[in-house]
Amino acid sequence: MPRKRPGRIRTKNTNRREALKLSNMAPEDYNVRPDEAKSIACPDCRSWRRIMGDTVLKVREHCVSDKVTEGEKHVTCPGSDQLVVIDIDVRRWQARQDRLLRDAMPQENRRAARQFYKPLPAPAAPVSRITAEVTLMTARQSYLAHREGCMRCVGGQHCTDGGFLARRYVLVLSQEPARREDRAERERQERRTERWQTAPAIRRAQWAKHGGEAVEAANNRCAERIPGSVSEFRGLQLPLAPQNVEAHDRRQTDLGKQYARKSPAA
Ligand SMILES: [Zn+2]
Ligand SMILES: [Zn+2]
Repeated sequence: MPRKRPGRIRTKNTNRREALKLSNMAPEDYNVRPDEAKSIACPDCRSWRRIMGDTVLKVREHCVSDKVTEGEKHVTCPGSDQLVVIDIDVRRWQARQDRLLRDAMPQENRRAARQFYKPLPAPAAPVSRITAEVTLMTARQSYLAHREGCMRCVGGQHCTDGGFLARRYVLVLSQEPARREDRAERERQERRTERWQTAPAIRRAQWAKHGGEAVEAANNRCAERIPGSVSEFRGLQLPLAPQNVEAHDRRQTDLGKQYARKSPAA
């Protein structure tokens, strides 16, 4: 199962437009599969964006340009914080999508889509590098979007573009388990690194909490041995004999009798 991030809304603000109903959108322009992160093709900038929230759903705030890192100015997309309402039958929507996706499969695999989940001999890493932006979701949705608009893609038939998108989807699908494993491994690695990096800070905090210099001073002090202590390390010798011998014997006898009563066989 892919890790599910809880979509949290950080602000109550919306873009003050009317809520966007999924029923008014093309079915391939959103993804509300129950086991995946919800996302939508932003109507303003036509890029895929996360839908955040559990009950109140909103398009995550984003930039109109995805080239800010390359020096372009950051401009918040007016589609940010757009309220979204899921007013469609999700199961029916998904069933229809799955039907179309089966058509993307090569004939011999169409019956058993599951077969694609066997590991491929090719490693996953190079693919994720070549097609940085192509995820299982975007590959799937762009195939579906093409099918929707193409007159020549009917049933199992594909036009040139449709064929390319179908093959790309099937390829990404087959690589998904390896990619998932790859992602999980990367996350494990990151967590490990983080632990290593924070360990000294944690120790510093513990040291500060438990006295710091006062402890150090006490540690370094050449104190006289506590009277009655066995050694510098063991401290005082514990008494081995009972304080009141008579009372102790009485208790032992009583206990013995109690045990005898509980287990008469013995
Ligand atoms: Zn946008
Ligand atoms: Zn086509």
